[in-house]
Amino acid sequence: MFWEELKGKTYIPPEPENKKRKKQEPLNLEVFGILDSPYALTPADDQGLNEITADPVQNDIHAPQPETTQPETLEATETTEIEEVKAPKRLMPTANDVYHFHPIAFINHMKLVFGEQTGECHCNRDLTTEEFKNIFIQVRKSEKLGKGILNHSNCAIPSNDKTFERLTEEFNKTTRKYGINQCIQKIHFISQIYWESARFTTGLEFADGTGYNPGQHRDAAKMGHTVAGDGPKYKGRGFMQLTWRKSQIEYLKYAAKKEGTLKGKTDTELELRSNNYEKYISDNLFYAMDSAGWFWSNYKKAGSKYSELKGKPLNDIALHGDTYINYISTLVNGGGSGKSERKKYYGILKNIFKYDFVCVNNENKQELESSDFAPWVKYIYQEFAEYKGLNEVESPLKERIIEYHKPGRKSGDHSISWCASFVY
Ligand SMILES: [Zn+2]
Repeated sequence: MFWEELKGKTYIPPEPENKKRKKQEPLNLEVFGILDSPYALTPADDQGLNEITADPVQNDIHAPQPETTQPETLEATETTEIEEVKAPKRLMPTANDVYHFHPIAFINHMKLVFGEQTGECHCNRDLTTEEFKNIFIQVRKSEKLGKGILNHSNCAIPSNDKTFERLTEEFNKTTRKYGINQCIQKIHFISQIYWESARFTTGLEFADGTGYNPGQHRDAAKMGHTVAGDGPKYKGRGFMQLTWRKSQIEYLKYAAKKEGTLKGKTDTELELRSNNYEKYISDNLFYAMDSAGWFWSNYKKAGSKYSELKGKPLNDIALHGDTYINYISTLVNGGGSGKSERKKYYGILKNIFKYDFVCVNNENKQELESSDFAPWVKYIYQEFAEYKGLNEVESPLKERIIEYHKPGRKSGDHSISWCASFVY
């Protein structure tokens, strides 16, 4: 029945048909050469079945009191009608709300976590523009934000670079150059730069930077801020928000030995404040992304908090998966800002990358032979990867559920009809 017909009405399940068992015939054992069976069958109409030979509980003080009425005569079971089942009346809800019960939750709960090895892993390959865009859109949706990129008013990156194509191009260049090769490294890296770049809206810190001026910050002198105005000049720049003159000059010196507009600049030129070369880090798409890779793989190293990580770059720490996720955030942003958001992005990215199911470098990959499963299982896994973390009233899952429930869909089309749902 359709929901529209059912809602608000009392639903009474149809009464079950009365079923009768067939009369059981004793086996003719003689055809098997057995003439004298030690296990003689009792015929159904044997009067002995009606005799109660002993009361098994008569001496048991914990047993229920025996019936005072005459015990019911036992009927031969072959012809007994099954007791009629009275179904409880159920009132269907009047609302149109539908609770979407995700099949994967069921399966996880039953300790049958599985997936199908599709080989679609992001290790050791570039991301396509579509993949990068999808990542961006999915993360944005989780925060109910729009799709604008590099669109903050303080972002001086040229407008022709404010495209997914260019962002993807620079992302791939950076991951290749800095060995951010494995899925889990990319997942961690994107989680961090997404937050640091204010969700890819800018390459420049929002604050005016006066808080980093000499005398204003305890680390100012140590980090090279010796002149008034160094705070605003060397505030956070690039997608990893390199902060302080010391870090930015070190990066510029490194970058000048590689490719890019600054190639060949001398240390003296780079150190000269009036040249304003630090602006490249925030205002040039290549340097904004490249500086993030440099920070991630070359510059920032673990301290002594964890002996197994000491001196390792973030890119190595990322290989530990979830274990040091908060420590990674602390190393990127000492103040601990956005720790929970970074963790959330990390979780979303793991799903988008299908990390638990397809990554060839994931030692804990959920792997079972696909032949063990019904054909619709792969759709469960795909849907799970795409929609995990969303509840049923959020887009795009909301729209997908409506699709599941569309009347007249084709039976047997697992891409749509696999979904299990019920109303509450
Ligand atoms: Zn992988």
